[in-house]
Amino acid sequence: MNHPDSITIRDVTARDGLQGESRLVATEDKVRLLEMLGNAGFRRINATSFVSSRAVPQMADAEEVMAHLRRRSDVTYDASVPNIKGAERAIASGVDVVVVFVAASDVGNRSNVRRSTEESMSEAEAVIRRARESGIGAIGTVSTAFGSPYGDEITIDGVRAMVARFVGAGATGIALGDTSGEANPDQVHEMVSQLLADLGDLELALHFHDTRGLALANVLAAMDAGAVHFDAAVGGIGGSPFTLNSGGNLAAEDLVWMCHQMRIHTGVDLDALFEIHDLLERLLGHALNSRVRVQAQGVAS
Ligand code: ZN
Repeated sequence: MNHPDSITIRDVTARDGLQGESRLVATEDKVRLLEMLGNAGFRRINATSFVSSRAVPQMADAEEVMAHLRRRSDVTYDASVPNIKGAERAIASGVDVVVVFVAASDVGNRSNVRRSTEESMSEAEAVIRRARESGIGAIGTVSTAFGSPYGDEITIDGVRAMVARFVGAGATGIALGDTSGEANPDQVHEMVSQLLADLGDLELALHFHDTRGLALANVLAAMDAGAVHFDAAVGGIGGSPFTLNSGGNLAAEDLVWMCHQMRIHTGVDLDALFEIHDLLERLLGHALNSRVRVQAQGVAS
Protein backbone atom coordinates (compact mmCIF):
# COMPACT_ATOMS: atom_id res chain seq x y z
CA MET A 1 0.00 0.00 0.00
CA ASN A 2 1.19 3.50 -0.79
CA HIS A 3 1.25 6.14 1.88
CA PRO A 4 2.88 9.56 2.19
CA ASP A 5 5.81 10.34 4.53
CA SER A 6 3.81 13.08 6.16
CA ILE A 7 0.25 14.40 6.31
CA THR A 8 -1.45 17.59 7.48
CA ILE A 9 -4.26 17.28 9.99
CA ARG A 10 -6.76 20.11 10.26
CA ASP A 11 -8.32 20.11 13.68
CA VAL A 12 -12.10 20.62 13.75
CA THR A 13 -12.70 20.10 17.50
CA ALA A 14 -13.76 23.65 18.30
CA ARG A 15 -16.28 23.91 15.46
CA ASP A 16 -17.56 20.61 14.00
CA GLY A 17 -16.75 19.03 17.37
CA LEU A 18 -18.53 21.45 19.66
CA GLN A 19 -21.47 22.41 17.45
CA GLY A 20 -23.39 19.25 18.26
CA GLU A 21 -22.76 19.43 22.02
CA SER A 22 -25.70 20.49 24.16
CA ARG A 23 -23.62 21.82 27.07
CA LEU A 24 -22.43 25.33 26.15
CA VAL A 25 -18.68 25.79 26.50
CA ALA A 26 -17.57 29.18 27.86
CA THR A 27 -15.73 31.50 25.48
CA GLU A 28 -12.58 31.46 27.65
CA ASP A 29 -12.57 27.64 27.57
CA LYS A 30 -12.89 27.64 23.77
CA VAL A 31 -9.98 30.06 23.55
CA ARG A 32 -7.91 27.84 25.86
CA LEU A 33 -8.85 24.79 23.78
CA LEU A 34 -7.78 26.52 20.56
CA GLU A 35 -4.48 27.61 22.08
CA MET A 36 -3.80 24.05 23.31
CA LEU A 37 -4.57 22.70 19.82
CA GLY A 38 -2.04 25.06 18.27
CA ASN A 39 0.54 24.12 20.90
CA ALA A 40 -0.15 20.40 20.27
CA GLY A 41 1.11 20.86 16.72
CA PHE A 42 -1.94 21.42 14.52
CA ARG A 43 -1.09 23.97 11.84
CA ARG A 44 -4.64 24.26 10.55
CA ILE A 45 -7.49 24.84 12.93
CA ASN A 46 -11.21 25.17 12.21
CA ALA A 47 -11.74 27.73 14.97
CA THR A 48 -15.44 28.55 14.86
CA SER A 49 -18.48 29.01 12.70
CA PHE A 50 -20.21 32.26 11.80
CA VAL A 51 -23.75 30.90 11.76
CA SER A 52 -26.95 32.25 13.24
CA SER A 53 -26.86 31.83 17.01
CA ARG A 54 -30.46 30.67 16.82
CA ALA A 55 -29.43 27.77 14.56
CA VAL A 56 -26.30 26.86 16.55
CA PRO A 57 -26.25 28.39 20.06
CA GLN A 58 -22.80 26.88 20.75
CA MET A 59 -21.28 29.18 18.09
CA ALA A 60 -22.93 32.42 19.28
CA ASP A 61 -19.56 33.77 20.51
CA ALA A 62 -17.64 33.39 17.23
CA GLU A 63 -16.49 37.04 17.22
CA GLU A 64 -15.38 36.92 20.87
CA VAL A 65 -13.46 33.69 20.34
CA MET A 66 -11.51 35.18 17.44
CA ALA A 67 -10.92 38.44 19.32
CA HIS A 68 -9.52 36.78 22.45
CA LEU A 69 -7.50 34.03 20.79
CA ARG A 70 -3.72 34.54 20.97
CA ARG A 71 -2.93 33.41 17.47
CA ARG A 72 0.21 31.55 16.53
CA SER A 73 1.90 32.89 13.41
CA ASP A 74 2.45 29.32 12.13
CA VAL A 75 -1.23 28.31 12.35
CA THR A 76 -3.92 28.97 9.75
CA TYR A 77 -7.24 29.65 11.48
CA ASP A 78 -10.33 29.06 9.40
CA ALA A 79 -14.01 29.53 10.10
CA SER A 80 -17.04 27.86 8.59
CA VAL A 81 -19.64 30.16 7.06
CA PRO A 82 -23.07 29.26 5.68
CA ASN A 83 -23.66 32.37 3.56
CA ILE A 84 -22.45 35.86 2.61
CA LYS A 85 -23.57 37.32 5.93
CA GLY A 86 -21.41 34.77 7.76
CA ALA A 87 -18.53 35.46 5.39
CA GLU A 88 -18.67 39.21 6.15
CA ARG A 89 -18.55 38.47 9.90
CA ALA A 90 -15.65 36.03 9.44
CA ILE A 91 -13.68 38.51 7.32
CA ALA A 92 -14.28 41.30 9.86
CA SER A 93 -13.03 38.95 12.61
CA GLY A 94 -9.75 38.43 10.81
CA VAL A 95 -9.89 34.72 10.00
CA ASP A 96 -7.26 33.44 7.55
CA VAL A 97 -9.63 31.26 5.53
CA VAL A 98 -13.39 30.82 5.19
CA VAL A 99 -14.87 27.38 4.65
CA VAL A 100 -18.13 27.10 2.79
CA PHE A 101 -20.26 23.96 2.46
CA VAL A 102 -22.69 22.65 -0.11
CA ALA A 103 -24.29 19.23 0.30
CA ALA A 104 -24.11 16.93 -2.71
CA SER A 105 -27.49 15.69 -1.57
CA ASP A 106 -30.30 17.88 -2.89
CA VAL A 107 -32.60 16.49 -0.19
CA GLY A 108 -29.91 17.42 2.34
CA ASN A 109 -29.72 21.01 1.08
CA ARG A 110 -33.47 21.41 1.15
CA SER A 111 -33.82 20.04 4.67
CA ASN A 112 -30.69 21.70 6.14
CA VAL A 113 -30.65 25.14 4.60
CA ARG A 114 -34.02 25.17 2.80
CA ARG A 115 -32.36 25.76 -0.55
CA SER A 116 -31.78 23.61 -3.61
CA THR A 117 -28.23 22.46 -4.36
CA GLU A 118 -28.11 25.01 -7.19
CA GLU A 119 -29.15 27.88 -4.90
CA SER A 120 -26.64 26.77 -2.27
CA MET A 121 -23.90 26.56 -4.89
CA SER A 122 -24.58 30.11 -6.14
CA GLU A 123 -24.33 31.44 -2.58
CA ALA A 124 -21.11 29.46 -2.01
CA GLU A 125 -19.56 30.90 -5.18
CA ALA A 126 -20.42 34.39 -3.93
CA VAL A 127 -18.79 33.60 -0.56
CA ILE A 128 -15.63 32.36 -2.24
CA ARG A 129 -15.41 35.42 -4.48
CA ARG A 130 -15.97 37.75 -1.51
CA ALA A 131 -13.25 36.04 0.55
CA ARG A 132 -10.77 36.20 -2.33
CA GLU A 133 -11.54 39.89 -2.94
CA SER A 134 -10.71 40.60 0.69
CA GLY A 135 -7.41 38.76 0.35
CA ILE A 136 -8.11 35.63 2.37
CA GLY A 137 -8.38 31.96 1.42
CA ALA A 138 -11.59 30.05 0.72
CA ILE A 139 -12.16 26.32 0.95
CA GLY A 140 -15.11 24.85 -0.92
CA THR A 141 -16.49 21.77 0.81
CA VAL A 142 -18.82 19.20 -0.71
CA SER A 143 -20.63 17.62 2.22
CA THR A 144 -22.40 14.25 1.98
CA ALA A 145 -19.94 13.68 -0.90
CA PHE A 146 -19.82 9.91 -0.47
CA GLY A 147 -23.46 9.18 0.20
CA SER A 148 -26.62 10.80 1.46
CA PRO A 149 -28.30 9.84 4.72
CA TYR A 150 -31.56 10.77 2.98
CA GLY A 151 -31.19 8.05 0.37
CA ASP A 152 -30.76 10.15 -2.76
CA GLU A 153 -27.99 9.07 -5.11
CA ILE A 154 -24.59 10.84 -5.06
CA THR A 155 -22.36 10.36 -8.12
CA ILE A 156 -18.67 11.06 -8.60
CA ASP A 157 -19.46 13.16 -11.66
CA GLY A 158 -21.94 15.20 -9.63
CA VAL A 159 -19.29 15.86 -6.96
CA ARG A 160 -16.68 16.71 -9.62
CA ALA A 161 -19.05 19.24 -11.18
CA MET A 162 -19.57 20.92 -7.79
CA VAL A 163 -15.81 21.01 -7.18
CA ALA A 164 -15.29 22.57 -10.62
CA ARG A 165 -17.69 25.38 -9.66
CA PHE A 166 -15.76 26.03 -6.41
CA VAL A 167 -12.52 26.14 -8.38
CA GLY A 168 -14.05 28.45 -10.98
CA ALA A 169 -15.09 30.88 -8.23
CA GLY A 170 -11.49 31.01 -6.96
CA ALA A 171 -11.37 28.43 -4.14
CA THR A 172 -7.89 28.00 -2.63
CA GLY A 173 -8.68 24.47 -1.44
CA ILE A 174 -11.31 21.76 -1.72
CA ALA A 175 -12.65 19.43 0.95
CA LEU A 176 -14.90 16.39 0.67
CA GLY A 177 -17.03 15.60 3.69
CA ASP A 178 -18.38 12.18 4.54
CA THR A 179 -20.88 13.86 6.78
CA SER A 180 -22.80 10.78 7.91
CA GLY A 181 -20.15 8.08 7.53
CA GLU A 182 -21.44 6.54 4.30
CA ALA A 183 -18.06 6.12 2.55
CA ASN A 184 -16.25 2.85 1.93
CA PRO A 185 -12.55 2.49 1.04
CA ASP A 186 -13.07 1.45 -2.61
CA GLN A 187 -15.29 4.44 -3.25
CA VAL A 188 -12.88 6.79 -1.46
CA HIS A 189 -9.97 5.51 -3.55
CA GLU A 190 -11.84 6.14 -6.78
CA MET A 191 -13.17 9.56 -5.77
CA VAL A 192 -9.81 10.79 -4.48
CA SER A 193 -7.93 9.49 -7.55
CA GLN A 194 -10.27 11.32 -9.91
CA LEU A 195 -10.33 14.55 -7.93
CA LEU A 196 -6.57 14.73 -7.44
CA ALA A 197 -6.24 14.40 -11.21
CA ASP A 198 -8.80 17.19 -11.69
CA LEU A 199 -7.27 19.52 -9.12
CA GLY A 200 -3.58 19.50 -9.97
CA ASP A 201 -1.81 21.67 -7.37
CA LEU A 202 -4.96 22.68 -5.50
CA GLU A 203 -5.25 21.03 -2.09
CA LEU A 204 -7.81 18.31 -1.48
CA ALA A 205 -8.78 17.52 2.13
CA LEU A 206 -10.85 14.59 3.35
CA HIS A 207 -13.29 14.92 6.22
CA PHE A 208 -14.47 11.56 7.48
CA HIS A 209 -17.04 10.91 10.16
CA ASP A 210 -16.70 7.63 12.03
CA THR A 211 -20.42 6.84 12.12
CA ARG A 212 -19.86 3.23 11.05
CA GLY A 213 -16.27 2.78 12.25
CA LEU A 214 -14.72 3.14 8.78
CA ALA A 215 -13.03 6.52 9.10
CA LEU A 216 -9.47 5.17 9.47
CA ALA A 217 -10.00 2.61 6.71
CA ASN A 218 -11.14 5.46 4.49
CA VAL A 219 -8.08 7.53 5.45
CA LEU A 220 -5.83 4.66 4.36
CA ALA A 221 -7.66 4.32 1.04
CA ALA A 222 -7.36 8.07 0.47
CA MET A 223 -3.64 7.99 1.31
CA ASP A 224 -3.14 5.12 -1.10
CA ALA A 225 -4.74 7.30 -3.79
CA GLY A 226 -2.41 10.22 -2.92
CA ALA A 227 -4.29 12.34 -0.37
CA VAL A 228 -2.25 14.11 2.34
CA HIS A 229 -4.77 16.43 4.04
CA PHE A 230 -7.23 15.12 6.63
CA ASP A 231 -9.65 16.55 9.20
CA ALA A 232 -10.07 15.16 12.72
CA ALA A 233 -11.47 16.15 16.12
CA VAL A 234 -10.11 15.37 19.57
CA GLY A 235 -12.08 12.57 21.20
CA GLY A 236 -14.00 11.99 17.97
CA ILE A 237 -16.59 14.51 19.11
CA GLY A 238 -18.97 16.27 16.78
CA GLY A 239 -21.33 15.83 13.98
CA SER A 240 -23.60 18.18 12.19
CA PRO A 241 -26.80 19.05 14.03
CA PHE A 242 -28.30 19.58 10.55
CA THR A 243 -27.54 16.16 9.11
CA LEU A 244 -29.40 12.99 9.90
CA ASN A 245 -27.21 10.36 11.66
CA SER A 246 -24.10 12.44 11.33
CA GLY A 247 -22.07 10.58 13.98
CA GLY A 248 -18.78 11.77 15.43
CA ASN A 249 -15.67 12.89 13.60
CA LEU A 250 -12.62 10.76 13.14
CA ALA A 251 -10.78 10.96 16.50
CA ALA A 252 -7.53 12.92 16.15
CA GLU A 253 -5.80 10.68 18.71
CA ASP A 254 -6.60 7.57 16.67
CA LEU A 255 -5.41 9.14 13.41
CA VAL A 256 -2.19 10.44 14.99
CA TRP A 257 -1.46 7.11 16.69
CA MET A 258 -1.97 5.15 13.49
CA CYS A 259 0.22 7.53 11.48
CA HIS A 260 3.02 7.48 14.01
CA GLN A 261 2.96 3.65 14.13
CA MET A 262 3.32 3.75 10.33
CA ARG A 263 6.09 6.40 10.52
CA ILE A 264 3.92 8.99 8.82
CA HIS A 265 4.80 12.42 10.19
CA THR A 266 1.89 14.52 11.52
CA GLY A 267 3.66 17.18 13.61
CA VAL A 268 1.08 16.53 16.36
CA ASP A 269 2.08 15.46 19.86
CA LEU A 270 -0.05 12.58 21.15
CA ASP A 271 0.47 13.35 24.86
CA ALA A 272 -0.66 16.92 24.25
CA LEU A 273 -3.77 15.52 22.54
CA PHE A 274 -4.50 13.38 25.60
CA GLU A 275 -4.41 16.50 27.79
CA ILE A 276 -6.89 18.21 25.46
CA HIS A 277 -9.06 15.09 25.47
CA ASP A 278 -9.21 15.07 29.28
CA LEU A 279 -9.99 18.79 29.42
CA LEU A 280 -12.80 18.30 26.91
CA GLU A 281 -14.30 15.45 28.94
CA ARG A 282 -14.47 17.78 31.92
CA LEU A 283 -15.93 20.66 29.88
CA LEU A 284 -18.55 18.50 28.16
CA GLY A 285 -19.37 16.23 31.09
CA HIS A 286 -19.29 12.97 29.19
CA ALA A 287 -16.84 10.35 27.92
CA LEU A 288 -15.39 10.85 24.43
CA ASN A 289 -14.77 8.38 21.61
CA SER A 290 -11.01 8.01 21.11
CA ARG A 291 -10.08 4.32 21.27
CA VAL A 292 -6.41 5.22 21.67
CA ARG A 293 -7.11 7.46 24.68
CA VAL A 294 -9.23 4.76 26.34
CA GLN A 295 -6.36 2.27 25.89
CA ALA A 296 -3.82 4.68 27.36
CA GLN A 297 -6.09 5.36 30.35
CA GLY A 298 -6.46 1.59 30.90
CA VAL A 299 -2.70 1.10 30.93
CA ALA A 300 -2.20 3.98 33.33
CA SER A 301 -4.72 2.81 35.95
ZN1 ZN B 1 -18.11 17.09 9.88
